[in-house]
Amino acid sequence: MALASCARDADRRPNVLLISLDSVRRDMLGCYGAKFGERSPSPNLDRLASEGVRIEDALSSTSWTLPAHATLFTGQPELVHGVEQDGQRLGDSFPTLAERLRAHGYRTAGVYSGPYLDPRFGLGRGFERYRAGYGPELAAAAETARATLARVHALDGSTSRAHGHAAIEDNARAERALEVASHRDSSSRTVTELVLAELAADDGRPFFLFAHYFDAHFDYVPPPPFDRELDPGYAGSADGRDFVRRLAAPEASKGDTEHLRALHAGELAWIDSEIGRVLDELERRGLAENTLVVVVSDHGDEFLEHGGLGHRRTLYEEVVRVPVLLRWPTGLPAGETRSEPVGLSAVAPSVLALVAGKPEHAALLAPAAGEPVLARLVLSPTGERMKVRVLESFRRGDLKLLRERSLDPSRTETLRWIDLALHPDEPAQGWSTDFTDARAREALQSFRAEHARLARERREPPLAEKAEDLLAAFRGLGYAGEEARVGALTGEVLVLPPT
Ligand SMILES: [Zn+2]
Repeated sequence: MALASCARDADRRPNVLLISLDSVRRDMLGCYGAKFGERSPSPNLDRLASEGVRIEDALSSTSWTLPAHATLFTGQPELVHGVEQDGQRLGDSFPTLAERLRAHGYRTAGVYSGPYLDPRFGLGRGFERYRAGYGPELAAAAETARATLARVHALDGSTSRAHGHAAIEDNARAERALEVASHRDSSSRTVTELVLAELAADDGRPFFLFAHYFDAHFDYVPPPPFDRELDPGYAGSADGRDFVRRLAAPEASKGDTEHLRALHAGELAWIDSEIGRVLDELERRGLAENTLVVVVSDHGDEFLEHGGLGHRRTLYEEVVRVPVLLRWPTGLPAGETRSEPVGLSAVAPSVLALVAGKPEHAALLAPAAGEPVLARLVLSPTGERMKVRVLESFRRGDLKLLRERSLDPSRTETLRWIDLALHPDEPAQGWSTDFTDARAREALQSFRAEHARLARERREPPLAEKAEDLLAAFRGLGYAGEEARVGALTGEVLVLPPT
């Protein structure tokens, strides 16, 4: 004990708490302007922002969970780490933040609550403990699905036909129950409990804790009172269950869409109250002063701004622009903002720079003006190689380029740009395909150079192990699951944009 406290006295490096809010776009937080009636859905995070640094223009590397977290953990954009389809996992080519901090003497632990964060996708690397914080309903359903599947696998020639049939039926039923549970179960409380347990497990080393809160991901089914309080007057019939499939855009009234947004915000309010418990515990244990708290999101959700709902469809600002907040009372200023565009890939290197006492090297705090930020999305909804589309967006200051390339025989490629200072909502008429504008031409040249540089560093990722319980959970979330995998895309999709 004496030794441990000696070590702690000598080691003034900060603890690090990295919180990932799944599916929370920047403008859902009060500290970025969100209001429902007079209320902010995120009072605890708003206070955290006022006590630290708020990044105004942080951009995800994509618009879905797995590749965005691969970027968050490795500091590499999607074009480089290559994890961009279902069924792939993060390989060993790039060290993770947890591995780096562990190698520097940090105690590392992670808690996650969404299927893409499962260690089978490579995201648990470097954590001494990496645990699922699923709520009890989902945990029980997953266990039943696993057990019934094991019985199906154990069937052989000696099994009676009736017995075999019953085992298969049981498994099918268990899988359906797992789908339902993965929609509805609230995991935030369990995640918090596991994080609090980690805070209590002090062994004298500084800690790196990662907490992934998944409840804001659709479906939007917040527990009471968060289900009513942000939109109390709504009398329509829209609800947050399965709406991505059910609520076709032309049928939705503005009130329905606003209600969905309020339900989504209700999920965030629920998570915010749970994060409040974690922040209180840091305070109570005297850890708040020397803990670097970093709050990020992996992507946002669309609410019909460009005709769709949910995410993993486009790279518009509503899905790529994410909150990034940092608080470290003894190491960072309070109440400041940074406004240069910066990517999610800057988070891991910035944490390492701050821990090493070199804030001037933290790109989140001191982004180089005009530094390009690339995002990328590979779409293969049918799993057919010829139907793959690759979207890439590129930000430089207020200028955004969007490139779309199809792999069908037509090899169609479009390239357009927009000035977000003039058209922050990215309306169709704000985009131009004319690159005679000097700034647009310069951005295109920068895009080419950056794309070529990153493509040379790319590594094709390995495949994840097949797992029926995960696939069922993905289908529950409205993803096609593993069927959508089309294999390595090297070459074809790394072709440079035209000059
Ligand atoms: Zn996500």
